[in-house]
Parts: sequence; C-alpha cells; structure tokens
Amino acid sequence: MNKELIKKNYYEAVNQEWLSKAEIPGDQPQISVFLELHLDIEKTLMDLADKWEQDPTGLDKNLLKFVKLHKMTKDFETRAKLGTEPIKPIINKINNINSLKELELLAKEMLMENYDLPFGFQVMQDFMNSNNQVLYFGEADLFLPDKSYYENKEMKDQLLGMFRMTTMQILKLYGYSDEAAQEIITKALAFDELLVLVAKSSVEKADYVKMYNPVSRKEVYEKSKTFDLMALADSLVQTEVDKLIVFNPNFLEKFNDIVCEENFELLKSWLILTNLRKFASDLTDELRIASGAFGRMLSGISEAQSKEKYAFYQAYNRLAQAVGLYYGINYFGPKAKADVENMVHEMIGVYRDRIKNNAWLQPETKSKAITKLDAMTIHVGYPEELPSYYDLYEVESYEEGSNLILETLKFARLTNKDNFSKYQKEPNRKIWGMPASMVNAYYNPFNNQIVFPAAILQRPYYSLDQSPSENYGGIGAVMAHEISHAFDNNGAKFDEFGSLNNWWTEEDFKSFEEKAKDMIQLFDGAETGYGQCNGKLTISENIADSSGLRCALEASKKHPNHNYEEFFQNWARVWRQKSSPEFAKLLLTVDVHGPAILRANMQLRNLREFQEYYQLTKDDPMYLEEEKMVEIW
Ligand SMILES: [Zn+2]
Repeated sequence: MNKELIKKNYYEAVNQEWLSKAEIPGDQPQISVFLELHLDIEKTLMDLADKWEQDPTGLDKNLLKFVKLHKMTKDFETRAKLGTEPIKPIINKINNINSLKELELLAKEMLMENYDLPFGFQVMQDFMNSNNQVLYFGEADLFLPDKSYYENKEMKDQLLGMFRMTTMQILKLYGYSDEAAQEIITKALAFDELLVLVAKSSVEKADYVKMYNPVSRKEVYEKSKTFDLMALADSLVQTEVDKLIVFNPNFLEKFNDIVCEENFELLKSWLILTNLRKFASDLTDELRIASGAFGRMLSGISEAQSKEKYAFYQAYNRLAQAVGLYYGINYFGPKAKADVENMVHEMIGVYRDRIKNNAWLQPETKSKAITKLDAMTIHVGYPEELPSYYDLYEVESYEEGSNLILETLKFARLTNKDNFSKYQKEPNRKIWGMPASMVNAYYNPFNNQIVFPAAILQRPYYSLDQSPSENYGGIGAVMAHEISHAFDNNGAKFDEFGSLNNWWTEEDFKSFEEKAKDMIQLFDGAETGYGQCNGKLTISENIADSSGLRCALEASKKHPNHNYEEFFQNWARVWRQKSSPEFAKLLLTVDVHGPAILRANMQLRNLREFQEYYQLTKDDPMYLEEEKMVEIW
C-alpha cells in the first residue's frame, strides 16, 4: 500500500499498483474485481464446453441441450450459408401488417415470440400480496439508454448520429437500399421521440413503489381506445384480467396519442428497425458484429467479442442456470456452502444486535425490523431447482431443419408461456434470478430472500487463505450489504413476507427518511473524475453499502484476530475498477450503484473507526466531519 496516499485517496493508496497495470480487455467496457472473476469463470466454462463436446458421457439432459445448441451457435459456416434467410418470416410478418387493427390480430403471437412491440406484459409478484402474481404492463425501451440523453441537444445529436450510422450498416447487410434504410431509420426515430416524451428518468425508475400503479380493466379500456389492450392481456394469460399494474402511468395516459393509426407508418418502421436489430445476432457473424456496434460505442468498447466467446454465450445465456448448477456443485461444493451459510447467519446475528441497540428507533419498529430479519431466507452457492421450462426445451439442429432464429422463437414461446401461466398463482421461491456461475449477489424484496451464487465466493471477497478481517471486509460486507437492502429506501416499505406494507411508526419512518436525505446529500455532486454522482439515483445502494460496511466491521471487531487495516484495505480492494470514459459516464446516468471510487472512499470516510484509525484531520481529503456522517443501520 502507498502510505503517502492513505489520507488523500485511500482507494488509490490500496489499488495504485493494480490501477497502473490493469488493462481493459478490448471487448469489455471496464475491468474490475467482478470482471476479473467473471473472466476466470468464463475460461473455466468455455473449457468445459469444449470438453463436453468431445465427450458428453455422464452429462445431464440440460447440459446435453447446451452442447447441442453450442454446436449450432459456433457453426459460423452454416450461419453464413443461411445468411438472412432465417429471419425472412419475421420481416415478412411485419411488412404485411398494414394497420393497427392488423397489428392487434398478431400482437399475441408476436409478444409470445419476444418481438419488440412498443409495449409489453409480464406476470410478476403482486407488491400488495407477495403470495400472488399479477399482470404488469410497460412500454418499450428508448434507443438511447436514458431520457436525460435526449435532453442535452449536443449529446443527443451526437449519439443519434452514431445510431443512424450503425443502424444504416445493419439495414444494408439485410439488403436495404440507402434510400429505403434512411426512410426506415428516420421514421423509427420519430416514433422513438414520442416515447421519450413519456419515458421515466433513471431516478424515477429506481423507486420501486412508483412502479406499482394498478389500473382497472375499465380504466384501461378508456385510456387505450386505439388498441384493445385488455383483449390482448386476456389472451396472454387465458382468463379475464381485472386490472393491469402499470409501470409508467404517463405512457398509458398518452397511449392513444402514441399508438394510433396516424402514427402507424412511424410505428411500423420502428417495428422493422427494432426487430431487425434484435434478431441480427442469430444470423451471420457480420450481422451480429454490426448489431452490437452502437452498444459498443455507447460503452466505449473498442472491439466486438471473438466469435468463440459470442457463440459460447449464445448457448450459455439460454441454459445458464443448468451450466451454473454444474459449476456450483463441482467448483464450490457442499463444504464451502456450509461455511458460507454459517457466515451469513453470523452476519444476521450482528445485524439483529445492531437493530436492538439502535438509538433512533422506537421499540415497536425495532421488533418489526427484527421479525423481518428473522424471516429472511438465505440461499448460498447453487439453487435446489431449475426453471421448469428447461425440461420442455428441445434443441433441434440444422440437420433437423432448425436454425438459430427458430430456436430463439421456440425458447421465447416456452418462457413466455411459463411466465403467463403464473398469473394469479403463488410464486416458486426456489427459482433463482441468477445462475450460480454469475459473479454477483442479490436481495429480492418480494421474497425477503438473499442469494449468493457460488461465483462471488472467491478471492478477494472470500478465501480460507485470507485473514478473517479481509474476509469480513470482502464477502462479509457484501452479505451485510444484501441484508441491508431489506431496510433501504425501497426494501423498508415491504414486510417480512415481501408485501408492500407499512410496518413503521410514523415518527420512525420520518426519521428514516431524514437519514436517507442526508445520505443523498453525502453523495450528491461528489466528483468521480468522469462527472458527478447522482445522490438520488444511488440512494438505495449507498444505504446498503453504508449499513453493510458497519455491520461487517462490527463482526470483524468481535473476532480475536481483528485487524482494522486489513478490513479497510480489502473493502477498498474489492472496488478497484477501470472504465472507458464513455462507460463511466453511462453508469453515472443509469446505474443505481455509485461509482466504485466513491463506494470505496466515501463509505470509509463516513466511518468513525476509519477516521480514528488513521488519525485524520480536517486538512486530509479522506476526512469527514462528524456532523456530515450518516449512520442508518
Ligand atoms: Zn445492492
């Protein structure tokens, strides 16, 4: 560690050597601990995929499906030979739609096959009753990553210029003339502009409760006179739907002005363009490279993924839970699983004590918070069950008459049928939202459940070779971070069963909101080198980091070999990261996680123990005055 930097910039003090040496891979927008672990696992899985292809003995039926699909995705010779032929039925279908009425007739089939339409439906848990699932309604994504990109004229012109250029390339590969392509792009952009007017900002999207807007059947009828949304909803879930939960009420409010016959030509061009972009990756290598160009520009990625990696992910992404399960069982195993489960229970114990000793809550709220904590379910390593549609998926090879587009459509029909069949049914809480091979962790507020996939349980987060304080500063803080999401500005509104239910006294909730405001203040406007942090956008993650870090430190302090410096160092280490400037700016606009340097430095500055351990004084940049410190949990 560079001792001179400790008081100036702790993140750099710890990571200086890594920051000077680390290189961002050409096909990535950044390099970080997450990504280093991810690349390691990627290599393991890609080697496994080769091995499995040569000798599939003993593989279960899902892995055999993966092997069969992978053979297809990596056969670029056949993909080139087929050219754009496989997508013709999709193009023809859209080209033959000549009115909104005709679209209405085909909408169900198109949604079941994951075509992009300006709107979509999804069955998810009911916020008000997490034991039930209801139908949600939302609008399509914008062409640019966030509404704010359209508000700055210079940025908008520059990015939409790049959008035009890259989509032009795609349409030409499909055989469109310059003129025809220009017309499609211009009209599609005009339709996109209509969606921009009603789109939510990233800050609005980060507020869970605002996603939940029940609208009765009758009201939906009145608001969507141009298109029978309720008939479509009924046909998707195969029963009469009494209400829709609308993600964005502004969209429904303006629905008649956006999705209407007068805009049909714009809408049709938008359908052509979005779906040609969407399905391009299942065609030739040239098309998949062209279809990724705009995304790479937005994130400052210099080169496309290699053919081999791309083909691997095309197969993996479809059966990730099955491949992940193999990874979890064989590379993590029951011993590590038990060890980590113990650690989570320990962390929950520390959390329970912190709530008991909390100085700003009344006993009534404390006891409710503890009830929620005790009801939390913990999932470590790999899941007990895989999604049931895996069993129904049968891969058909080129020889059997299939191709990648047909495989994609078939899989979409299966997953959508599965999703819509859950309407008005209890959720299966054993199904994970991430594969075991993914380097990440999450808290699900609707199930009051935390999940730690096997992939994150590695050095520098966790290793038996690391000191206990290092493990607490790494995986311990991640665990407590996930627990804290149950009590962040979103999670705090859900009860122990995962339903939206106010368990707070009025006074305590007010104090909580005051503290959340202080946390917004602490981060808002903080410089990152690529722009300022948005305190409102990142509030839930900053609360989780801050509370998680405090809890992990307390656990570490209880250990006989506790070492402050090892703890602080590993916390700063796990956030080391280098990004392209474009990606760093993109994250500042859309990511609810704060920038890595602030997650390391600001959170440490906000700790009394850190200030005391390094004896910081007001002239040190790492100093933070007592009055500005925010402690929530
Ligand atoms: Zn988080």
